[in-house]
Amino acid sequence: MSLDFRDTSIAFKSHSTRSLQRSKWLFLVISNSFLVKIGKSLTVFAFKLKLPINFLILKTVFKQFCGGQTVKDSKEVISENWKFKVGSILDYSVEGQTNEFEFNNTKEAIIETIRTSKNNHGVPLAVFKVTGLINIKLLEKKSANLKFDKKEENDWKKGIKRVNEILSFANSLDVPIMIDAEESWIQKAIDEIAYDGMALYNRKEVIIYNTIQCYKKNQLVGLKKNIKSAKEKGFMFGVKLVRGAYLEKENSRSKEMDYESPIHPSKFHTDKEFNDCMNYILKIIDKPETKKTVSLILGTHNEESTMLAIKTLKENGWKHGEEPVLFAQLFGMSDNISYNLSNAGYKTAKYLPFGPIREVIPYLFRRAEENTSVKGQTGRELSLIKTELKRRKSIR
Ligand SMILES: Cc1cc2nc3c(=O)[nH]c(=O)nc-3n(C[C@H](O)[C@H](O)[C@H](O)COP(=O)(O)OP(=O)(O)OC[C@H]3O[C@@H](n4cnc5c(N)ncnc54)[C@H](O)[C@@H]3O)c2cc1C
Repeated sequence: MSLDFRDTSIAFKSHSTRSLQRSKWLFLVISNSFLVKIGKSLTVFAFKLKLPINFLILKTVFKQFCGGQTVKDSKEVISENWKFKVGSILDYSVEGQTNEFEFNNTKEAIIETIRTSKNNHGVPLAVFKVTGLINIKLLEKKSANLKFDKKEENDWKKGIKRVNEILSFANSLDVPIMIDAEESWIQKAIDEIAYDGMALYNRKEVIIYNTIQCYKKNQLVGLKKNIKSAKEKGFMFGVKLVRGAYLEKENSRSKEMDYESPIHPSKFHTDKEFNDCMNYILKIIDKPETKKTVSLILGTHNEESTMLAIKTLKENGWKHGEEPVLFAQLFGMSDNISYNLSNAGYKTAKYLPFGPIREVIPYLFRRAEENTSVKGQTGRELSLIKTELKRRKSIR
């Protein structure tokens, strides 16, 4: 089946015209950095004054980018996506937890997503961020090889116990789970947690996926080393490949603290790292007749990389429908990629954030800011939505 990311009739077939019009206005607003700034300040202010703005948020940005406030709430979106064979990856998007109570709540929420994945074909796997379970300060210290004091040691053990409970639960239900990548100054500790988890659970199949951020230098070198070492130790390597979400934060921290930025100097270098890592994995990825070594998830909204992956899979002789790759995008964005991919028979899923409105506000503002700063993405979303609205009008 042919694949055309410009085919808006497929891209938006799950959307009513009313919902497309709402999306159009929303993207118009968030493409304006001034309005996003004002909106952010007003929201914070309104929450402080306890003004009833939940309804407004629920009907606008929340509806665009989130599944619901709970797993149960999100089921409607999950089944709507699954009607078109687009999976949903439930992402508990509450950020900035700092105490044991909040960490334990997050653990319970993630456990619930794993259970849901087991019982729902529309939820192919689970995901979590380590900072939702372990204090970020401890992850930073661990990554810098600094010693913990007694209390920190104790808190670290509690955090690791939470992570292990999640990984072992996912393994017991046979539900694959991804570990998101975060800021570079805490990533070493996250990589070690993921590596240990893979060594334990990825024996017969890939249960645990770690994330590689290709905006960082030398990722292909590290990837090759890790895959080789996993092979020698007899376990499989699960990779989610992304470009990376903390570009501005990374670059400004390295400037402020006067160290060489770990980030590539240009988008061109990031794209090359991403495509090189992707091509390397696609070359060695398990063929049906050989033993499994790697499993791949491509977390990207980049059309060129997605097309390149498909071309390479074909060239490598994969039978259509059996390609060992899952393509993933964020809910509310790049439906032209997700829906056209799934329509053409490729495994596709959306990250579906959920959580109480007030708690997911930081996630929503990051999405709005990302859509403001990444001009190309907003422009693409808007122009595709407008094309589809025009197309529908012309056939009425
Ligand atoms: C399913 C999914 C899961 C994700 N999981 C994670 C995760 O765990 N951790 C995480 O950090 N991110 C994650 N992301 C976000 C991802 O890293 C990107 O920020 C986002 O997807 C945009 O990149 P892109 O590949 O879609 O393509 P594009 O829009 O083509 O690329 C934009 C990206 O290129 C890079 N870039 C842009 N300008 C420059 C520059 N001047 N120099 C160097 N690099 C530059 C940045 O990484 C930027 O985000 C995820 C995204 C998806 C879709």
